[in-house]
Amino acid sequence: MLERRSRVDLHLHTTASDGALTPTELVREAKACGLECIAITDHDSTNGIDEALEEGQKLGVGVIPGIEMSTDIPRAEIHVLGYYLDHKDEEFQKVLQQLREGRRDRAEKMVAKLAEMGLPLEWERVLEVAGKGSVGRPHIAQVMVEMGYVASNVEAFTDYIGRNAPAYQERYKLTPAEAVGFIRKTKGLPVLAHPAEVVNLHLVLPEMISAGLVGMEAYYGDYSPEAVEGLLALADEHGLIPTGGTDFHRAESEGHGPRHPGETWVPWESVRRLKALATRLGRIVPGSC
Ligand SMILES: [Zn+2]
Ligand SMILES: [Zn+2]
Repeated sequence: MLERRSRVDLHLHTTASDGALTPTELVREAKACGLECIAITDHDSTNGIDEALEEGQKLGVGVIPGIEMSTDIPRAEIHVLGYYLDHKDEEFQKVLQQLREGRRDRAEKMVAKLAEMGLPLEWERVLEVAGKGSVGRPHIAQVMVEMGYVASNVEAFTDYIGRNAPAYQERYKLTPAEAVGFIRKTKGLPVLAHPAEVVNLHLVLPEMISAGLVGMEAYYGDYSPEAVEGLLALADEHGLIPTGGTDFHRAESEGHGPRHPGETWVPWESVRRLKALATRLGRIVPGSC
C-alpha cells in the first residue's frame, strides 16, 4: 500500500516538556521528514515556541504556536490543545505555571503535614522514587512504606494521604471547559486531544463546545482507519474542525505509536480551517503556517 505522505503534524513535544528533542532539533527533524507545517504542543508550557519559530523560519518550516493543557475530570485526565494562541499573555503564563507546579506543591504540602504528624519523610527520597515522572501520592506512599510508617501503599492512602485522610491536600486543577476558556482568552483555538482515550466523551464534549471548543483530533498517532472515520463523523456532527498529529515525543519509543514527526497522515485542510479562524482573530505571526 502506498502511504500518503503527510506535510502537516499538529501535535509535537520538545524538551520544553517531556519530549527528547530541543525545539531546534525537532524543527530540523520535521524538515528531514518532509513536513511543511508543524505545531509545538508541549504539556503546560510554551517555552519551546520562540526557538522553534526561529529555526522554522531558517528552514522554511511553518510553526504554529501551541499548547497541550492538562485538565481533570473525576478519575481521569483530559488534554486540551490550543493553536495560534498568544503565548506572551501574562495571565495565561500564570495559569500554566500553576499547572506545572501544582503536583509538586501539593506533594510538598503533604510531606510537611506528615512531618507535623510525627512522620517525617525525606523530600529528596520522594523525588528519587518519582524519577522522571511528576511527583505524586503513590511516591509518598512508597517512601512511607520504606520508613516503616505503614505496611502498604493502601494503608498510606487510607490512613494519611487519601481524600478525607488527615494529610490530604488539594491540587490546582482545571476542568476541560476552563482550559478551553483560558485558550480562547488568549485568542487561541482550543482542540480536544486524542478523543478515543476520553471516557464519557459524549458527556465531556458538549460542555467543552459551549465553552468555545473549535476542533477535535481525529488523525491521531496510530488510530486505525475505522477509528479515524468514526471521529471524523463525530467532529462533523458537532461542527468541529478535525485536526491531528503524531504526538511525537522521541524516536526511540518502543512498541506502538509513531516514531517520526509526520508519520500520521493529517490533511492540509485541517490547517486551512484553523488558519481561517486564526486570521479572523488576527493571530497569524511571522513564521507560522
Ligand atoms: Zn496528551
Ligand atoms: Zn501530546
